[in-house]
Amino acid sequence: MPDIEVTNPANGEILYRVAEASDDEIEGAYLKAREAFTLLKSLTVRGRVAALVKLQRHILRSSENIVDRIVRETGKSRTDATVSEIFGVLDFLEYLIRDAPKILRDRPVKTPLALMGKKSFIYHDPLGTILVISPWNYPFFLCLVPCLSAIVAGNPVIYKPSEVTPLKGLLEEITSACGFVEGALQVVYGGRATGERLIDRKPAKVLFTGSVATGKKIMERASRHLIPVDLELGGKDPMIVFEDVDIERTAAGALWGAFTNAGQSCTSVERLYVHEKIYGALVASLEQKIGELVLGAGDSGDADVGCMTPGFQIKIVEKHLEDARAKGARIVTGGMRRGDSHFFLPTLVTDVDKTMDIVREETFGPVLPVMKFSSEEEVIREANDSSYGLGASVWSKDLSRAKRVAHALEVGNVSINNVMLTEGNAALPFGGVKNSGFGRYKGEIGLLSFTNIKSVLIDKQSGKIEANWYPYTRRKYELFRKLLGALFTPKLTRFIRIAIAGLKLESEAQKKRRH
Ligand code: NAD
Repeated sequence: MPDIEVTNPANGEILYRVAEASDDEIEGAYLKAREAFTLLKSLTVRGRVAALVKLQRHILRSSENIVDRIVRETGKSRTDATVSEIFGVLDFLEYLIRDAPKILRDRPVKTPLALMGKKSFIYHDPLGTILVISPWNYPFFLCLVPCLSAIVAGNPVIYKPSEVTPLKGLLEEITSACGFVEGALQVVYGGRATGERLIDRKPAKVLFTGSVATGKKIMERASRHLIPVDLELGGKDPMIVFEDVDIERTAAGALWGAFTNAGQSCTSVERLYVHEKIYGALVASLEQKIGELVLGAGDSGDADVGCMTPGFQIKIVEKHLEDARAKGARIVTGGMRRGDSHFFLPTLVTDVDKTMDIVREETFGPVLPVMKFSSEEEVIREANDSSYGLGASVWSKDLSRAKRVAHALEVGNVSINNVMLTEGNAALPFGGVKNSGFGRYKGEIGLLSFTNIKSVLIDKQSGKIEANWYPYTRRKYELFRKLLGALFTPKLTRFIRIAIAGLKLESEAQKKRRH
């Protein structure tokens, strides 16, 4: 297979080439992961967390260099890279370091009366080798957050980055400097075919982040081997703005939500619904604020919007805008690239309707289509009229209305009076519904999704026979019937009746069958 060429999207410079992994490398990675699994399992959660503490310090110390690498391959603005990739990872590490030992401990659960004297627990044991496949838009965050969750839960990880932004060598360098168990996090480079071969080597689970089309293929392939998959797919997030908001703050939020990472976020604002009473004022504020945005990548922290990363994504954005224009939409600002570069001008579109691709399909670029609504019912209906269900935001001073709408939305994440904010709290699970996928990572539920949730019931060692074991006798049967009546009828004498029936049954169980 030909080598993959990695380029700097801001200027087209070829940065390096990376070879598609060979079958031997894939085989070797799985063998090494197996060895790492033995070691990882033998460590306590606190033992595994020790490497995360070192990693957190290391990332903090080297953050400027890491940002340089990310910016060169993605074309992000420097602040975008620092906030979402570096802060996001450090903050998630803080959460794992503080909470993982508590979340992953053996948990006692209630044992019912009928099992008196026994104890019940849930253990969270590791699953085995986890395959993480990631997209190009957040190559540092979308690698480390799922991979570290899996590792702290005791699983080795094979990670396949996107061929567009592989950050070659960076993760290997970081983890080897931080005392990670050898083979705990291995990076396998390549594109689609490598992803397929990695699934065919039967990992214990696949966590995939990427497009809907690829998600379907991954699930189909994993199903051949009965491998569980978590799918974190695309989105078409609505932002719903009621008439009682602060217009300037809301416009600033919409701007950031639509244009951060040049609109290449799965939870970007892709549909803005504004109450008719403030529609004109909000659009005017957006137009004025867009005019002040500064484009740039490789900047010193003072550019707002970076460039778009792969050329194929720019083509999708152009196609969506062409479709919108043809159907009568008005491009208020932007609507094109700067020259033939990957810098796409932040674009505001009005006179939009739901027959247009910019309302139905994921655009994944710096494009903000705005629509008007007049009632709560109408906007809920319109927002839910989408094949996607990843995130949303609701803006209103009336919190009971905002919460009501948050409940009614068919999505996995809702920010109220803010945008993309659920992602800022590492304790909140992240994931979608409908075509946005299923499964959750982050938070307690996310961490537990990398474990074998094992039910354990502990009895004492003794010579006693259980009442429900053989031999079955008529007398035992009658006592069972009495116990049923006592257990499941809400009477005051319940406990006495249970005790009597239980004791009789217990002593009966110790008798041999009379012939
Ligand atoms: P993509 O689906 O094209 O590729 C994602 C990854 O899958 C890449 O590593 C690619 O090499 C690999 N791949 C492609 N075909 C494969 C196959 N048949 N078998 C195995 N692996 C295969 O997505 P992309 O263009 O890299 O990323 C953009 C998409 O990711 C957008 O739709 C975006 O919404 C989504 N995304 C979702 C989230 C989320 O958390 N829900 C986060 C970021 C991005």
